[in-house]
Amino acid sequence: CSAFDAVPVAWLAGAPAARTRLQASHKGSYGDMAVIGGAPGMAGAALLAASAALHAGAGRVFAGLLDSKVALDTSQPELMVRDPATLDVGAMTVVCGCGGGAAVRGVLPRVISTAQRLVIDADALNAIALDPGLQTLLAARGRRRQPTVLTPHPLEAARLLDIGTAAVQADRLGAAQKLADRFGAVVVLKGSGTVVAAPGALPSINLSGNARLASAGTGDVLAGMVGAALASGLLPALDATRDAVWHHGDLADHWPADAPLTAGALARGGR
Ligand code: AMP
Ligand code: MG
Repeated sequence: CSAFDAVPVAWLAGAPAARTRLQASHKGSYGDMAVIGGAPGMAGAALLAASAALHAGAGRVFAGLLDSKVALDTSQPELMVRDPATLDVGAMTVVCGCGGGAAVRGVLPRVISTAQRLVIDADALNAIALDPGLQTLLAARGRRRQPTVLTPHPLEAARLLDIGTAAVQADRLGAAQKLADRFGAVVVLKGSGTVVAAPGALPSINLSGNARLASAGTGDVLAGMVGAALASGLLPALDATRDAVWHHGDLADHWPADAPLTAGALARGGR
């Protein structure tokens, strides 16, 4: 038996290379993005994801808010608020589910079928877990090799796999890989030691981040950061996702000890 007989089960993902912008680029070079979510009382989640996407460098960000009463976010004048029912997502990167509630189910068939690149989080994942028809649509999207990233926390992953949360946590690598294979998607299984898996690739365990991220809204911020990384088109979906996950944790690792870590400040990159 030699060292080469050992089969690796995962690799440990450290700092990615710096990504620079090309000199002759413009806002269109970094992609149009839509964040769809924000059911009544939950607009903050979608606005956090949109803010994170803007600060992570997305070219233009549209907020498709499911709560029609939220018309304008004056604290983020860069953001364009649209009706998600009429927003054309065909050429866009879409982040779907941040604070979506049950209402997000209505937009999912169109988004899964047409979005160029797609990040699915939170309530959109819960809606898919409850609906075999949406699962079939998502798997078909995977077979078409349209880039998709799923970002479940352990409970959301457990619902999708129809098992208990303890079973997910007992085999995080296996759970993430099973979801990745089932849906032909990149899967980010969140929590301490976030796992990133994709079909046909060795899963990785992210090394950045700490328990200060255990705070409301930080997952929505991650969804926005992954969306921006996909929208830029600079990297394939798996590499873009690993970069974003690492940067999200790295922000927390460099957070001043005496400053509160809130999702709003995290979305702004700590500024
Ligand atoms: P969510 O569960 O959707 O609110 O997302 C929470 C975010 O914070 C995810 O990116 C988690 O990976 C991260 N997070 C939560 N708790 C921890 C922890 N103890 N260590 C590292 N990251 C964490
Ligand atoms: Mg969440």
